[in-house]
Amino acid sequence: MQLLKNRLIRYLDAGFPILYVNTFEEEKMDRLLRSLHYKEEMYEWNESQGYIDFYTGTPIVEDCSFEMMLDLNKSVDLLDGKMLVLKDVTPYLEDARIAAKIKGLARQIHAGADAAILIVSESIVIPRKLEKYITILEMDYLSVEEIAEVIEEFIASSGIPPVSRDFLDEMAMAFKGLTEFEICNLIALAYASSGKLARKDLKLIFEQKQQMIRKAGILEMVDVKETIEDIGGLDNLKEWLIRKARVFKNMNKARRFGVDVPKGVLVAGMPGCGKSLSAKVASGLFEVPLLRLDMGRIMGKYVGESECNLRKAIALAEAISPCILWIDELEKAFAGVGGDGGGAEVMTRLFGNFLTWMQEKTSATFVVATANNITKLPPELLRKGRFDELFYVGLPDEKERAGIFDIHIRKRRPADLKNIDIGKLVNLTKGYSGADIEGVVKDAVETVFTDEKDFVTTNDIVRAIENTHSLSELMKDSVENMQKEYKERKFKNASK
Ligand code: ADP
Repeated sequence: MQLLKNRLIRYLDAGFPILYVNTFEEEKMDRLLRSLHYKEEMYEWNESQGYIDFYTGTPIVEDCSFEMMLDLNKSVDLLDGKMLVLKDVTPYLEDARIAAKIKGLARQIHAGADAAILIVSESIVIPRKLEKYITILEMDYLSVEEIAEVIEEFIASSGIPPVSRDFLDEMAMAFKGLTEFEICNLIALAYASSGKLARKDLKLIFEQKQQMIRKAGILEMVDVKETIEDIGGLDNLKEWLIRKARVFKNMNKARRFGVDVPKGVLVAGMPGCGKSLSAKVASGLFEVPLLRLDMGRIMGKYVGESECNLRKAIALAEAISPCILWIDELEKAFAGVGGDGGGAEVMTRLFGNFLTWMQEKTSATFVVATANNITKLPPELLRKGRFDELFYVGLPDEKERAGIFDIHIRKRRPADLKNIDIGKLVNLTKGYSGADIEGVVKDAVETVFTDEKDFVTTNDIVRAIENTHSLSELMKDSVENMQKEYKERKFKNASK
């Protein structure tokens, strides 16, 4: 909160005409603005009350529409000395006439009117016309100490019996990444459901937190059941992850010893060969939650929205840290960087933001980026110092295929395993990916079941193999090209 306050003061002093605070927490914002005492004349417009005095809530003009309010402030004389706080206005911003009027006000401020406009909104809508005049500010996520204060205050004010310091700290940790409003709601919910606040409520907090992250829509908290035993082959990558996990889990000690904080890893290569699986397994090894960033959802339709979403996602991940931030299909995110056109420009800016963050990051947010195709990735990303290591996963060799067959047969038909000739299956599946092998086993098991037989034999699986086309058959050329590409770019082989 203090951070936002300082930034707000800095921007206001520097005469930025329109500040756009992106937050769900209007009340908190109001408190902050009150404590700011920036201008004597502070007015607000919102949909339900119209044009009011910000401090007292008394109407300035009865039944004043948003457009009327803008007209009432349209000259330097009228605007001078005022701060206008605008709420519920995003639907109006898309109206070209209204946007033009707001632009008129912004130009007055630019030209020297001593005034400021502050838009408070939970969503971001910035028409092109106003892009130059608007600066987006993010409400900071609460620190653990601030969360503890929020909990203490809420408990005291709602008559909930006080809790021990230890439990309070534990709860504060569990609430990381949530807003004040969400925190108070969850405490009330936990208290209402059992009549007290106890350790078992942490589970409820965790579940609700998952939902809230889901609702925020940019990060997905992935449920991880996979363990390192679920990956066949990829021994180099597995060993590397185990080592990094050791550092990550003893971060303070490691840092004191002089070890660098692990930043992240890029795992690229063949589809269906265990890249996503590695991200999941890393989360288990590091013993931290896995947050998946969906780049498709980051891209917004308004100017500045994409950058803001990425910033938000990063801030949320940092707030939840220690965690693993999994960026799936990285090439989709940063394809087109450096190209022409508006879309490419946004991409290039986004990419710049991401690189800077990767470079400067000190939080315990470990990035696992996965990519199917690196030829489209900007070279800066592959330079040393961004990621701790670059790995490529190729098609599994014989030994690896044996491991993968073993894993997938064991998962479904452990009792049949001893009668299955895995060597024979391995010989028949050159060029198959891990996902292909899993598919073959799945098909065989299903066929045996529908044929009402009692167990799965080698021949059942052979028949399933005969009925499928492997990945490398389907994309022979690109398999070879990709392998060359990785060697040239000095990616480490994930397999031994
Ligand atoms: P991608 O490389 O495209 O991210 P995934 O990791 O999602 O591929 O693999 C898809 C599925 O194929 C996995 O969920 C897993 O069941 C199976 N699979 C792929 N590679 C392996 C492997 N090396 N060991 C075991 N299973 C694998």
